[in-house]
Amino acid sequence: MDNEALDLSVLASQRGANLSALACDPARTRGRRFAEPDAPTRNAFQRDRDRIVHSTAFRRLVYKTQVFLNHEGDLFRTRLTHSLEVAQLGRSIARTLGLHEDLVEAVALAHDLGHTPFGHAGQDALNECMRDHGGFEHNLQSLRVVDKLEERYPAFDGLNLSFETREGVLKHCSRANAEHLELTEPGGVGRRFIDRTQPSLEAQLCNVADAIAYNAHDIDDGVRSGLISTEQLLEVELFAHYHQQTLLEHPGLSQKPRRVLYETIRRMLSDQVYDVIDTTRQAVAQAGVRTLDEARLAGPLVAFSAEMKARSSELKKFLFVQLYRHPQVMHTTGQAQQAVQELFAAYMAQPSEMTADFAANADLHRSVADYIAGMTDRFALREHERLTGRKLL
Ligand code: MG
Repeated sequence: MDNEALDLSVLASQRGANLSALACDPARTRGRRFAEPDAPTRNAFQRDRDRIVHSTAFRRLVYKTQVFLNHEGDLFRTRLTHSLEVAQLGRSIARTLGLHEDLVEAVALAHDLGHTPFGHAGQDALNECMRDHGGFEHNLQSLRVVDKLEERYPAFDGLNLSFETREGVLKHCSRANAEHLELTEPGGVGRRFIDRTQPSLEAQLCNVADAIAYNAHDIDDGVRSGLISTEQLLEVELFAHYHQQTLLEHPGLSQKPRRVLYETIRRMLSDQVYDVIDTTRQAVAQAGVRTLDEARLAGPLVAFSAEMKARSSELKKFLFVQLYRHPQVMHTTGQAQQAVQELFAAYMAQPSEMTADFAANADLHRSVADYIAGMTDRFALREHERLTGRKLL
């Protein structure tokens, strides 16, 4: 096979508009669950993105925890600023690889819509409350938000997004949940978890951009909070390398640690982005795939090189131990889990304490989980205090 013909840029020129033959094409979308006429001025993915930005769940991301609780400081990332950073990184990579930027943006902005208040602590607590009732998983919940829980249209529940955006939103899914999805949507977004095939390259890209974003901003937020120090971070190869490079090139900055930190993070981000671009180009050439259907049957194509993956994993592990498991974070985590558990028990005992739509639902457990998952951190704390008379956090 002629290797040059498989280069993404060559494939792109065959398609026009700098779009790779492996990119999703909004003109050939697998469509929406409820048929709607095309929009006159926007392609299907731009329309999805607009629907996401105007949704209630999207606005709630402002007040949802990424790592630090919303009230702990004004400058820490929230789910909203995290999602914007994922969209920025994703679009930038997509543009270079000839993937569809609008789809990447839509998926990135929607990928965390299903997160509970209080970050992973909230999700773990809710999953525990739902253990005998189907569990709770934030990726599946993101899909539930865009498919069902948003109420904005007269004719259907949810936002009625196109298949490609929904596929990207459901980035992980257990086999049991996938089989459940198959019942209502045969051959739909759950199918690939049964067939073990890949999602679109745009969806794969959003996963990688998510990891690049949180690794970088959690360093920034971690140092800002004082819970981790630059000295500790020097144990991590990915950080130490760029930190040293920065100080060598700008020796005058040694008295300006914040600028050194930002420059280090900037260099880390850039090199991870270039690594993904190069590795993806090579993987596509090596796999010899020429169409999106072929790409879905190949292994993951948008990825870090083995070397960058190892360095990124080392950083992730460091953040897990030193930041996410820091005693101070664990203390708020414990309180947050208690808040979610007690809220769950309170609504199960007294469903009328929820808004009418939720109280009337036949599956009360799922309804309570949906209600709590939708809450912002501060609303959850207010509700907890109202229902238990006790103040947490
Ligand atoms: Mg994320």
